Amino acid sequence: MNPKTREMLKLQILDLEQMRMQQELEQIPIRENEIQKQLSDLQQQADEADVDVRDLDKQIRSLEREVESARAGRDRLKDRQMDVKTNKEYQAILAEIDFLDKEIYGKEDLILERMEKSQLAAQDAARKKRTLEEESGRLTTEMNRLADARKFLENELAHNQAKRKQIEEEISPELLALYNKRAAVCGGIPMAEVRNEICQICHVRIRPQVYQELRTTDILHQCDSCKRILYYLDEE
Ligand SMILES: [Zn+2]
Repeated sequence: MNPKTREMLKLQILDLEQMRMQQELEQIPIRENEIQKQLSDLQQQADEADVDVRDLDKQIRSLEREVESARAGRDRLKDRQMDVKTNKEYQAILAEIDFLDKEIYGKEDLILERMEKSQLAAQDAARKKRTLEEESGRLTTEMNRLADARKFLENELAHNQAKRKQIEEEISPELLALYNKRAAVCGGIPMAEVRNEICQICHVRIRPQVYQELRTTDILHQCDSCKRILYYLDEE
């Protein structure tokens, strides 16, 4: 292999590795945000389910108070029933008692209905609380794993950068300058392998003479199309 491109390829390998790790690193806070959102959604669902239970229980207690006061009113009417003088008064009190009875029955039905709902709501709340607990455990583990991955990648990146510095010192300044210049305009990937006369990045055919020179000389060539520095890997 051309010794010049071999030197530059060392940089390219490190840089590709660097890009891959940086992309991985950038994904971490995105996933962390997703996890936090998932957790807060689950917490909110559990809280809302609790509120539903409390609301229903409040409705039940208020209905019970209403029934109680209707019963007291009914008892008072019953007492008065004994003292009435006329049939008309008697009928009027009966009608009032009848009205209160209907109100009491209606509210007792409502209480039963709300109690059933409250029971279902309590089951739902318990289910949501359990889900929250389970998911919290799982997601916290994942958060810890992400923190570990971040530490690992940051270490690897520092290591990678130290290695790059070392190569920068070893490589000839002209090659380094050429590499960096092409890297700046080629999205950080300034080199392209040529295989079967084809640039492996932009897939354009290389002229036969250039291909010949890539394989047999140390002349540097750039791809006519993507402008990358071409290299040829000897088959070994
Ligand atoms: Zn190309």
